[in-house]
Amino acid sequence: MPTGSCLCKNLQYEYTGEGQVIICHCLPCRRLSGSAFSTNILIPRSSFHPTSGTPKTISRPGDSGLDVTLNFCANCGHTIFVTGESEVLRGSIVVKAGTLDDPELLDKMAPAEEIYTEHKVSWMQTERKVKKEGDGGGWMSTAFGATLFLLGM
Ligand SMILES: [Zn+2]
Ligand SMILES: [Zn+2]
Repeated sequence: MPTGSCLCKNLQYEYTGEGQVIICHCLPCRRLSGSAFSTNILIPRSSFHPTSGTPKTISRPGDSGLDVTLNFCANCGHTIFVTGESEVLRGSIVVKAGTLDDPELLDKMAPAEEIYTEHKVSWMQTERKVKKEGDGGGWMSTAFGATLFLLGM
């Protein structure tokens, strides 16, 4: 069972089942991660179980207009998961992939989707086909496409 924690280990969690890895290039994720993009694992909310600590939260409207909530450690400030009120996020948890305790676990997961690629930095190379808005793949009708509006904080 995958487990994860914040930098200081005050917050810890575990989840069951397989998550879907989603890379997000949106500008709020850049700011939140302090980097050029964020790597997220989307799991059903019922699969997620906090095992230590109580996160502090801060909410702001996402692109859907509904709240996106960052759940972070009051001690180290590290956001370990994101929840939201929009249709898809209401039943899901967005776990920040870098918080996984087993560093090899993420290596075994293939990203399912990249979103907000219009904000992808020009020097970032990917070997996979990157879905873009207007590709015609119908991805807006998928759950991952829908997260486009949910992760955009
Ligand atoms: Zn912490
Ligand atoms: Zn994002």
